[in-house]
Amino acid sequence: MRKTEHHTITGTVVCLSGLRIGGSDDLLQTGGTDLTCIKHPITLQPYIPGSTLKGRLRSEMEQREGKFGGKESNEPCGCARDDCLICRIFGPHKAKFHKFGPSRLIVRDAPVLKGGETELKTENVIDRKTGQALHPRKVERVVAGSEFVLKLALQVWDIDNLSKFRGDDGQDHTGPNALKEFLRTAILRVQRTGIGSGVSKGSGEIEFRSLKLDGQDFVL
Ligand SMILES: [Zn+2]
Repeated sequence: MRKTEHHTITGTVVCLSGLRIGGSDDLLQTGGTDLTCIKHPITLQPYIPGSTLKGRLRSEMEQREGKFGGKESNEPCGCARDDCLICRIFGPHKAKFHKFGPSRLIVRDAPVLKGGETELKTENVIDRKTGQALHPRKVERVVAGSEFVLKLALQVWDIDNLSKFRGDDGQDHTGPNALKEFLRTAILRVQRTGIGSGVSKGSGEIEFRSLKLDGQDFVL
């Protein structure tokens, strides 16, 4: 087994709305403690952790492939099947024994390129009878218009020559192209939904701009 190709994908993540990274809607309900945005410990500037971006890319593709949340859990796909590009590209989650080699995708932390100031947004629960806003809480988010530096790496191994991927356009892609097309599809799908917390209520709308694969335009 041998590594045969290494590709670099660069670009910009542009916030079309405020962006909340680090707040967790799972743990804190509206009315709970104020939530703060994740920041670099030294520069104190917000950034998008690679794990956040990678998790969103993975989750979009799990939803596409019908591998989102098993019968018993909400765990990521760990099937480790030869034909599972999710396990191959993102890593087979908790599967200990597999023959894939390293995860094909590397997602770097995305530092601020422009903007990066934060604002406090108030969220409420609406009383169903009176229409009154109850339990206001403030959440911190990066202001709209901010930009972050996107940097991904895609590694290809010789065993990837057998990979197959059918794109959203119905076209079949094989070998290393299957991995590139898979990634392109994942990026496009993340752009359609968004990233961070509170996407269903106005935060996290983003656009990927100036995407390049090894310096060549990488069009979504
Ligand atoms: Zn899998």
